[in-house]
Amino acid sequence: MDKRRLPWRSEGPEQPDPYRVWLSEVMLQQTTVAAVKPYFERFTIRWPDVEALAEAPESEVMSAWAGLGYYARARNLIACARVVTEEHGGAFPSTEEELRRLPGIGRYTAAAIASIAFGRRAVVVDANVERVVSRLFAVEEPLPGARERLYALAESITPGEASGDFAQALMDLGSAICTPRSPDCGRCPLSHLCLALAAGEPERYPVKSPKAAKPRRTGTAWWLEHDGEVLLVRRPAKGLLGGMLALPTCDWRGGGEAPAEAEWRDAGAIDHVFTHFALNLSVRCASSEIRHDGIWWPVDRIEEAGLPTVFARAAERGISWRNNDL
Ligand code: SF4
Repeated sequence: MDKRRLPWRSEGPEQPDPYRVWLSEVMLQQTTVAAVKPYFERFTIRWPDVEALAEAPESEVMSAWAGLGYYARARNLIACARVVTEEHGGAFPSTEEELRRLPGIGRYTAAAIASIAFGRRAVVVDANVERVVSRLFAVEEPLPGARERLYALAESITPGEASGDFAQALMDLGSAICTPRSPDCGRCPLSHLCLALAAGEPERYPVKSPKAAKPRRTGTAWWLEHDGEVLLVRRPAKGLLGGMLALPTCDWRGGGEAPAEAEWRDAGAIDHVFTHFALNLSVRCASSEIRHDGIWWPVDRIEEAGLPTVFARAAERGISWRNNDL
């Protein structure tokens, strides 16, 4: 099995740049490698080191992050870059303990940076590693309760040297061979050790507790145009999609009013799934004679506004309405 070539990994024996490791690990939280790659390339061209990122205006970083989701990560990214620059002289600390004191860095990310970028022994457990370990040891306890046990088992097999290489090899195995639905055990270098394979049903692991259905919410987003521009708002800094530009919308719990009196037309609805709930968002469109207070953005440059995905999809509805496609 070949090592995956990824833009944040070093090709040779040298230790990779901690800035690139940190940036990639934050981007990869809850997000696929394929989705992260173009963002990683753009970020590292625009902000090649942590000091450059620390100096960037927050609104520019948030716009560049648009579409990656989980926007609290972007706010923590800026906060962390500033702490590293101002309190650590632009050099990431190398121990898990110090790394965990930085904004947005939890147990997994600290272990990944300490081992991959600094060569320290650390136990790095992501979803791929959890799956591989649960199969190697045929762990019957269901997730999420089994998480600490899987961590302890991963700890028990992590070597004293090159634990970063070991973690990346397990992640690559989980991504390419020990896949969730159809593990390719015939190609697996660990098949002789695997208890799940010996038991004959490796895809049954990791065992998971039945999922509770996500609560559903409904809401409305308003597309209000005036003279070739559309009304946007900046969302409050704290909370869901905090600090991002967005279409005016209600609070998705039944409260909130249209931003202006107008002849609102229905432009359909979109479904979007957040971590904790599913949203059905109706889009209502209108033209206004008056330029109300707010941020007015040229409709033909709307893709440059850096709208988060749910509002970018709502904006597509607005543009269809404008083009009389509906
Ligand atoms: S033998 Fe199969 S189930 Fe076991 S670790 Fe390898 S790929 Fe995964």
